[in-house]
Parts: sequence; structure tokens; C-alpha cells
Amino acid sequence: MKVLESMNTYGHEQILFVHDENVGLNAIIAIHSTVLGPALGGTRFFNYATEEDALFDVLRLSRGMTLKNAAAGLKLGGGKAVIMGDPDTLKSREFLHVYAKYIHSLHGKYYTAEDVNINADDVACMNEVTQFVTGTPGVSGNPSPFTARGIYMGMKAGAGVKFGTDSLKDKTIVVQGLGSVGYALCGYLKKEGAHLKVYDVKSENIKKAVEEFGAAAINGEEVLTSECDIFAPCAMGAVLNTGNVDALKCRLIAGAANNVLMDAETGDALERLDILYLPDYIINAGGVINCGMEITDQTYSADAVNAKVDAIYDTTLRIISSAKEKNISTYRAADEYAEAIVNSQR
Ligand code: NAD
Repeated sequence: MKVLESMNTYGHEQILFVHDENVGLNAIIAIHSTVLGPALGGTRFFNYATEEDALFDVLRLSRGMTLKNAAAGLKLGGGKAVIMGDPDTLKSREFLHVYAKYIHSLHGKYYTAEDVNINADDVACMNEVTQFVTGTPGVSGNPSPFTARGIYMGMKAGAGVKFGTDSLKDKTIVVQGLGSVGYALCGYLKKEGAHLKVYDVKSENIKKAVEEFGAAAINGEEVLTSECDIFAPCAMGAVLNTGNVDALKCRLIAGAANNVLMDAETGDALERLDILYLPDYIINAGGVINCGMEITDQTYSADAVNAKVDAIYDTTLRIISSAKEKNISTYRAADEYAEAIVNSQR
């Protein structure tokens, strides 16, 4: 991959390649945009097959953070970092301290946070070296409850458009993935009187949801084909593609999983099927709002975060109506909405 050519194509501002022989650190920090403010995005620690895979991932993810932070109304730009290698063998206090020194060398142009294989304790460890981290335990902390709240608010907005009422009472909702976000989402849905159908690869999570929420257990094959009003994918990405969306029995899709559609064509296909898709990064922004406000606000306040998370309801409505007006998919309308916010500040 030609790095500068890619930066030109996708508009990245700066990329820092990091190597430290003593601790075996190989990392790439990508700053996509600081137009709205310092770039924010987590650090992913992953054993990439090739350097090219890592570069591709960090370029894609950092651009995604620019759009997500802009659409969430944060005065923050987008960035992301990847550390290459096996976290189980490499990660140590010294390793994270060395990595944090490089974050610090950017003087606050980039703030990092939790992501795959970087947890809250790792962030706290980096915080011993640099203040340019967020999602810090004891301050904004665990993002998942805020993410779940945002999904719930977005889902209600989508339901209002699709079903004529934003009440989720008696709606049948399939939840795929009962981890930190999916399980907390079930709590909101149950409280509002929805009927839940749930699946997780871990059977103990299903058992818990059946006991606590009176959910009906379904199996993996039934997730996409089960009769329901709403499908909430809260496990992994790329669940839906042009080859499987025809099987869906839902009328609305609203979940936490990032990049849940394989591509823009899948968004177009859902539009044709009259299934309303609520763009992932619009409704799953609660977590980034939480850690973003740790950076932008003088004093962190969970109440202020909740108020901004609840505004996901209005943002969702705005994107749905913009998609209708322009006769494009909500997937494409979300990108246009976020890009317009960034471009207005250039
Ligand atoms: P998690 O790891 O706590 O939970 C994921 C759950 O999905 C686990 O219980 C796992 O067993 C289950 N799972 C994995 N593969 C599955 C499959 N094929 N079918 C059904 N279940 C499966 O993760 P999380 O923090 O709850 O995040 C869920 C999704 O939301 C992820 O895609 C994540 O990237 C995204 N997301 C999370 C946040 C956040 O604040 N945690 C914010 C934005 C986006």
C-alpha cells in the first residue's frame, strides 16, 4: 500500500509509525482529522497477519472515528492506533509505558482509549505516563452502559418512524450478543415491555437473559430469520451482506456492533426491502460521548453525558429524514451528515 497516496485519498493528516526494540513494540497511530478538535479513538492491540492489514485497519478505523465523533456533536476529531503483536505475550506495564510515551509525544493532538485487547486497567497504566488518554477508571470509566442507552434512544426514534409510535411495548426484538452492551440494552427493552428473543455464543449469557428478562432463547441459525419487529445486532461486525438480507423478517435494525453492514450496497438492499437501518456509528456513539466528554468538559458529569447521549434520538430522526429527502440509504445519509459537520469547520 502506498501510504501517502492512501492518506491523500482518505484525507488523513498524520501517521506515526512506532518501534521500540526493548519491549518489542510495533504500532501505528493514525490521525485522520483534527478539524473539530483533538483526534479521539482507541488503541487496538491485535496480532495482524501483515503490516499491510494493520495499516489498512488503522486508516479505516481512524476515518470512521472522525465521522462518529462529528455526528455525536463532539468537538473532537478522529484518530485510532493499532499495536501489532500478541497481547498475551507482549503486554506488560513497561510495554504500555513505552507506548504511552509515543502518545504523549503528540502533545494532545491524539487521545487514546480502550479498544480490542486494551482495557480500562491498561488505560490507567498509560495514564501514569501521559494525560492524553480517556475512558479513565474513576472518571468516565466503562462506556458500555452509555452505549446501551444510546442504542435504546436511537431504536425508539426509529420505531417512531417505522411503527408510528416510539414505544417499544409489545415489540418483538431479537438481540444478537449479550455482552456488556447487548445485556444492558435488554434491561432497557424489558423495562419498556418489549418481548425479547436472544442469542449469544456463550450459553451462560443466554441463560442469564432468559432468567432475568424472561427472554426467549433462539439458536444461531434463527438470528436473522426469526420473526420480529426489530433486530439488534450487538455482537460482531459484517453480520449483514447483500447475500443474506433477503432472509430478514424484521422491519427495523438497531444495534451496537460496528460495521454491521458489509458495505454500502447492503444499505441500499435494506432500503429496497423497506427495512429501516439505523447507522451503527450514529446510535452506538454513547460510549465515545462518555469518554469524549472527559476530554472536552472541565468537569466530567454523567448527567451531562446522558443528556448528550439522549440527543441520539434527534440525530437518528435527522438522518432518517435526510435519507428520505435525498432518496438515499440511511447508511449513506449518515456519512453525508457527518462529513457536512466536518466540512463546515474547514
Ligand atoms: P462484548 O465483548 O462485551 O460482548 C459481545 C458479546 O457477543 C459476547 O457476549 C460474545 O459472546 C457475543 N458473541 C460473539 N460472537 C457472537 C456471535 N457470532 N453470535 C452471537 N453472539 C456472539 O462486547 P460489547 O462491548 O458488548 O460490544 C458489542 C459490540 O458493540 C461490538 O461489536 C463492539 O465493537 C460494539 N461497540 C461497543 C461499544 C461499547 O461501549 N462497549 C461501543 C460501540 C460499539
